[in-house]
Amino acid sequence: MNDNTLSGRTALVTGGSRGIGRAICVRLAQAGIKVAINYRSNQAAAEETAQRVAEAGSSAYTVRANVASRQEVDAMVEEVGQHLGPIDLLVNNAGIFEFLPHDELTPEVWQTTLDTNLTAAYNTIWAVKDGMIERGFGRIVNMSSIGGVRGRPNSIAYSVTKAGIIMLTKSLAEAVAPHNLRVNCVAPGLTDTEMPHSVATPEVIEELIEATPLKRIGQPEDMAKVVYFLLSEDADFITGQTIIASGGRVLLP
Ligand code: NAP
Repeated sequence: MNDNTLSGRTALVTGGSRGIGRAICVRLAQAGIKVAINYRSNQAAAEETAQRVAEAGSSAYTVRANVASRQEVDAMVEEVGQHLGPIDLLVNNAGIFEFLPHDELTPEVWQTTLDTNLTAAYNTIWAVKDGMIERGFGRIVNMSSIGGVRGRPNSIAYSVTKAGIIMLTKSLAEAVAPHNLRVNCVAPGLTDTEMPHSVATPEVIEELIEATPLKRIGQPEDMAKVVYFLLSEDADFITGQTIIASGGRVLLP
């Protein structure tokens, strides 16, 4: 295997059952990468992603784990290693979104959001990084959000976690760079998945599109292309960076 070639390597995509995660799984499969598809509860959706990975010509393995749980993540990494081989590529994509005014942000919501969106990335990275270091190869992409750059008044916990993901990316990238590990981040804007549609009315979505310079909602495939680029050899001199993929809507309302 050419040192930089991704074909034949194994990727773990958290939250690969739906939305952006599914598009990432398919994009990686198109490059010949074996894909472990993590999900929390929606097994049928994960199986659908596995079907699409197979149609793209690669191997898939679905694996249930709550990424907020260190124990479940450790077991997942062990299981994936047995079925697809060691994880060389990690995409921390799983996430939850809260849309609440500040006086409704309970300690429970705060903690669950931090555990799922931020501590989960610690859990997965710390479960795979030592193996990557031993093999002298690793590529990690973390999923942030434009909420982590600008902040959102009704998504305070979410924005905090997504800002944390950007700093985790920067700090870790510098720490592991000597071992040929690259760590980067994607910060999507509004993307056409269940996540925004579950909290925003069609009218609000239209307003957000209107506030987007490129005048459209992002598609999961838009994000998958950026993730693949950051994993690939085309990004070999890039680490610790966050690419904002938002159609230009970053500092606008
Ligand atoms: P989505 O459609 O709601 O899908 C969320 C995925 O995460 C599902 O696969 C879900 O699994 C999984 N998940 C949630 N909690 C989990 C947990 N505790 N353990 C394991 N898996 C878990 O979300 P999306 O829109 O594709 O978002 C993907 C990422 O992009 C997230 O990090 C999100 O914050 C970020 N993002 C999205 C947007 C947007 O507009 N869509 C914008 C900016 C950033 P199940 O299927 O089993 O529930």
